Amino acid sequence: MTRIADLLATGRTFSFEFSPPKSADGSMSLGRTIAELEPLAPSFVSVTYGAGGSTREHTRDTVLWVQRETSIPPMAHLTCVGHTHAEIADIIATYVDAGIVNVLALAGDPPKNPADARPSDYTYATDLIEHLREISDLCIGVAAHPEGHPRSPDLATDRRLLAEKMKVSDFATTQFFFDIEHYVSLVNDLADLGVDKPVIPGIMPVTNIGQVERMAQLSGAAFPDWLRARLEAGTSPEHVRQIGVEAATQLCADLLDAGAPGLHFYTLNKSTATREIYAQLGLPVA
Ligand SMILES: Cc1cc2nc3c(=O)[nH]c(=O)nc-3n(C[C@H](O)[C@H](O)[C@H](O)COP(=O)(O)OP(=O)(O)OC[C@H]3O[C@@H](n4cnc5c(N)ncnc54)[C@H](O)[C@@H]3O)c2cc1C
Repeated sequence: MTRIADLLATGRTFSFEFSPPKSADGSMSLGRTIAELEPLAPSFVSVTYGAGGSTREHTRDTVLWVQRETSIPPMAHLTCVGHTHAEIADIIATYVDAGIVNVLALAGDPPKNPADARPSDYTYATDLIEHLREISDLCIGVAAHPEGHPRSPDLATDRRLLAEKMKVSDFATTQFFFDIEHYVSLVNDLADLGVDKPVIPGIMPVTNIGQVERMAQLSGAAFPDWLRARLEAGTSPEHVRQIGVEAATQLCADLLDAGAPGLHFYTLNKSTATREIYAQLGLPVA
């Protein structure tokens, strides 16, 4: 049973994030993507969880499938807002029984319409971590937002609360960002607050301007003018994709030079961009 904290203690991790498929077609396509990425020997793969439990069964089934059918350790994302203690204990019991040891503990976003809110025993990710520590011996990762979480009143408050969260967890994975300065200042600020646990940068290769515009708006990440200008110079969708892959490759190289403990790729359930970045970085392929 491979704990991500142990992997990080011995070297860099290279990992991929997937969303759980909701249809038979989606399952086949995710299976194909994971098969295409397996030769890259990822340290782990992570599977997202729909806020409020909207993908509860799909996430569980995908995590169990990765554990059973591949040689890659899975990390299960778990959001707590809209869940009771009993529901979380039930999900964790299934994972522990299957030998899964890595969880990304998240608050999740509240529903857009307050009338849709479900009963919740939790408010913040730290509430979930406290419960997980009581009922399990899991390796617990958390989310970090280099440019600050969109609901935070200011960056200093966000950093202080993140530092408290990291003190009770094992490592963090970041929201995507495009300027390395955001990552470097996050790590430096955490060090000033007494936290030196690993912070794995999240990488989003831009393959489509519209999609990243929407995601950046939701996540609080800036879509910088320099990147937009470079992408807008693309003469075809394929050219835009290539420019996006080049920009992501440069960011990865700079992050590794800056001492990042690993790279976590937001794959959007596709393998091509990640495989191209791997090749351009000269990373080993099994
Ligand atoms: C790597 C990564 C993976 C993600 N995966 C998923 C996923 O699978 N599914 C999904 O739905 N979402 C996912 N998200 C998004 C995440 O759920 C949202 O950003 C959510 O709004 C906050 O979750 P959190 O765990 O960061 O919350 P928290 O750490 O609880 O923080 C939420 C907000 O509350 C503030 N806060 C924290 N503690 C306190 C306190 N004690 N008092 C006052 N304020 C406090 C924080 O500063 C922040 O503004 C992911 C994000 C990242 C970066």
